Amino acid sequence: MNESNETKEKFNAAIIGSGPAGFYAAEHLFKNKVYGFNVDMYDRLPTPFGLVRSGVAPDHQKIKTVTKVFDKIAQSPDFRFFGNIEFGKHINLEDLKKHYHIIIFATGAQTDRRMNIPGEDLKGSYTATEFVAWYNGHPDYADKQFDLSREKVAIIGVGNVAVDVARIFCRTTEELEKTDIADYALEKLAGSNVKEVYMIGRRGPAQAAFTNPELKELGNLEGADLILDKDEIEPDEITKKYLQEHPEKSTSRKLDLLKEYSEAGTGNKDKKLYIKFLLSPVEIIGRDDGRVRSLKLTENELYESSDGSIRCKAVDNHIELDVGLVFRSIGYHGVPLPEVPFNESWGVIANESGRIVDEKGSHIYGLYATGWIKRGPTGVIGTNKTDSAETVKCVIEDISNDKLNKPQDTDTDSIERLLKERNDKFISYEQWQKVDKSEVQQGQKLGRPRLKYTDVDEILDIARK
Ligand code: NAP
Repeated sequence: MNESNETKEKFNAAIIGSGPAGFYAAEHLFKNKVYGFNVDMYDRLPTPFGLVRSGVAPDHQKIKTVTKVFDKIAQSPDFRFFGNIEFGKHINLEDLKKHYHIIIFATGAQTDRRMNIPGEDLKGSYTATEFVAWYNGHPDYADKQFDLSREKVAIIGVGNVAVDVARIFCRTTEELEKTDIADYALEKLAGSNVKEVYMIGRRGPAQAAFTNPELKELGNLEGADLILDKDEIEPDEITKKYLQEHPEKSTSRKLDLLKEYSEAGTGNKDKKLYIKFLLSPVEIIGRDDGRVRSLKLTENELYESSDGSIRCKAVDNHIELDVGLVFRSIGYHGVPLPEVPFNESWGVIANESGRIVDEKGSHIYGLYATGWIKRGPTGVIGTNKTDSAETVKCVIEDISNDKLNKPQDTDTDSIERLLKERNDKFISYEQWQKVDKSEVQQGQKLGRPRLKYTDVDEILDIARK
């Protein structure tokens, strides 16, 4: 039976994190036909949308239109946004348990993995995660300094984040001017000396993590030639055998595309983008002044592991790549939250299908996870929809089995009173929409999709005017 919202039995849900996984979790809760939900979404930033705002590349505006879906979810009368409220600082687990039946963590993967090689902390060795956050205007990274005076850049990893970073370096200023890239980043990139970008994959072309649409973009850049070595594109015997046994259309297409690009030659565009395979970094070598001088790489070969996957191992041959900047782009990593069980090696909250579990594997009633903090940093934005559906399915089952948290005070006004005591500068969805409108208006004056505010105080001022 599809009951109206008024007659449904109602539960309070807190969602920590306002990225795609958090919004999709809210949507699944609202769509439930049997139970009703008051959903409060918290974010430590005054702005919502997580990586859609601070991760998705500025030249991928179409992907960002998913925020229209989130806007629609936020229009529910049962939805509230509390931006500028940090879990663990302004509110803790005990506070939430007092007010909510359901607490869903959707905090994403906020840091990066380390390579653990000598020289990783030299000046000029950066992480892709911080560079991405910087050019996207994330307030925590707006003051970060990148030395872009060097001509050659190595990006370790060949996933889609590495592709984003490579593309941003290769775009012309005219192209970047049409995006919502942070103003300071636009200026810095316009004055950058970067001319050669090397993406470094530890395995072969068939195993490259980038997807075909992203590869195609690299092959069609206005200001940079994509350069591939024909010999490196040819799959080795192990890969050929693997592909025969596990034929995959997208991999064949990827190899065809790479072959096509490898035949295009070096071209005559200003910048050059190289993709190299079967190389692993072993050391970042510094100059006397502590800056990066070069990157030492070992050549690899592939082998089939006991679980059937194709892995790489070093062969005894090293090369040195003369680069002045190194960006590691080898994956994001989750950050533990106070009082929430965490699996350190996986970088995720300890959970089973989204139910948060203690060290004995027992579900802690009322606690759930979704998105990257649940499954790790994989998949595209839409993957979070399915992921959140699984978590919400657990929520619904647990309601039926009376296995939720039992809050003492379910009055939704009392939460607001508590927040006013802890940090009265919290931001509602309506206030965020004022910021959104102002950013779009400022951007329009310059022919850009938006001009991002990157300072928390400035955002708060505009929101609370
Ligand atoms: P990713 O897809 O997991 O790629 C990580 C890369 O780092 C892989 O090439 C991996 O190689 C390599 N790597 C890992 N450890 C390494 C090590 N110790 N030394 C050298 N290389 C190492 O991660 P990501 O690029 O951060 O992307 C995260 C997720 O966001 C992905 O699902 C991605 O598709 C998605 N994303 C999508 C878009 C888009 O749709 N346009 C844009 C950005 C991100 P191996 O394969 O050998 O492990």
